[in-house]
Amino acid sequence: MAYKKPGLPDEPVKLKVKKGDTVQVITGKDKGHTGKVLTAIPKENKVIVEGLNMMVKHEKDRQSRKPNSTGANTVIKGGRVEKEAPLNASKVMLVCTACGRPTRVGYAYKEGTEKLSRRKYRVCKHADCGKAID
Ligand SMILES: [Zn+2]
Repeated sequence: MAYKKPGLPDEPVKLKVKKGDTVQVITGKDKGHTGKVLTAIPKENKVIVEGLNMMVKHEKDRQSRKPNSTGANTVIKGGRVEKEAPLNASKVMLVCTACGRPTRVGYAYKEGTEKLSRRKYRVCKHADCGKAID
């Protein structure tokens, strides 16, 4: 059996948010902040949100593998590097593009004559909105 990181879902989860979506963080240190999803990681049920959940990585100076024009290896300066850490997808809520409020996500189907031509799309769960989000 392949090694699985502890705490990961057995099956990749279908995320309700995707790259480019605006989400609001509902818990943790960035609670209440909104940001754009840079990367969705369905395998780990996580998302990376622009400017949120920043962590500081301390990196050592290291040598690049490719020599530069003078033939010597370029040194990549280390130090404190701020990076976005992945957030658990359950900690963010999708912000509705129509009403601007964070919402749960529902699904609806576009009408199609044949079953296979039906397209699933996301809708806002607010009773007074209900607009499609995609
Ligand atoms: Zn809405």
